This record gives sequence, C-alpha cells and structure tokens, in this order.
Amino acid sequence: MVKLPVRFNPAKLAEEGATYESVIPLRQFARFSDSLESSDGEVRVQTRFERDGNGRIAAQGQFSVDCQLACQRCLQALSQTIESAFTLTFVADEKAAEALPDEYDPVILDENGNIHVVDLLEDEMVLRLPVAPKHADEAVCRSFGYPGEAALTEADSTQTGQSGRKNPFDVLKDFSKPD
Ligand SMILES: [Zn+2]
Repeated sequence: MVKLPVRFNPAKLAEEGATYESVIPLRQFARFSDSLESSDGEVRVQTRFERDGNGRIAAQGQFSVDCQLACQRCLQALSQTIESAFTLTFVADEKAAEALPDEYDPVILDENGNIHVVDLLEDEMVLRLPVAPKHADEAVCRSFGYPGEAALTEADSTQTGQSGRKNPFDVLKDFSKPD
C-alpha cells in the first residue's frame, strides 16, 4: 500500500491504480471533533481511485476512527469506533455536483483539481456520527450515577404530585381560621 498524501490530485492517483492509506490526527477534523468529548485519536483511511466509463474520477474506500462521545444517559465519555465504506465522485464545482445523478456522492476539488484529505472525508464522518450515543449496558451508566429509567419516571410523578396537585383542604383551612 502507498501512503496517501495530505493534499492530492485524484485524477493522477487514478492513473496509478494503487491502494492508498493514511493515518490522520483526529484534531485536524475540526467540525467532526466538535461533536466529541475529546479530539485525541486518529482517523485511518484506505482508498483507491478510479475513472468510471463516463470519465468521472471516484474514490472508493473505508475509514475508521475510535472516538469519545458523550453518553446521552449518564453524560460520561463513551468509546465508540465509527467506521464506514464510501464511494465519492470528484467534481470541479458546485454546478457539476448538482448535475450528478442522485446515486453519486460528490466532492468538490479546488481550482487545480486537488483535494485535502480532510475535505475528502469529513462530511462522510459527520454523517456517521450516532445521533444519541449510549453505553450499551445501562449498568455502566448507573455506575456513573445515572438513576435508571424507572427511577426517573417515578421522580417525575412525585414532583408533579408535590407542585401540580394542591390539597383541596388547604383552602378550607384558610376559611375556617378564626379571626
Ligand atoms: Zn452512559
């Protein structure tokens, strides 16, 4: 395997036909790491470039990243590996991207036909972020102080009981008070 340059020309790499790989520090993906508990870590990517029958250049590969998300139950860090395969088609500009049939996933090149590896992968990575990450085992969350689903429901109803419902005899007490 060949090391993928940080910035590269996909058309050139398609001619070489090699499989490229790279390990990129997670902190370079600023938009993606904004959603994480920590930007420590690495993104591993492997990809090939090829020209299809219509002369379009595409990247086919997969990435994998170990990241720290915030658990939606206990709010503590949760380690999760996000990995996915991708097929991306390179286009020159926004207009060319819109002209592509729906089944293509476009990536826009700069004016010299180059692209930075972060711009290649970041949209795909953001798409794969879990919406509501949780520890698989609720017992883990409880060990971090999460009271559990049942306890929360109970606490909810107790609170409504105290603030929402007034004792009707409270009113009578006021009326029956001797002056
Ligand atoms: Zn949790």
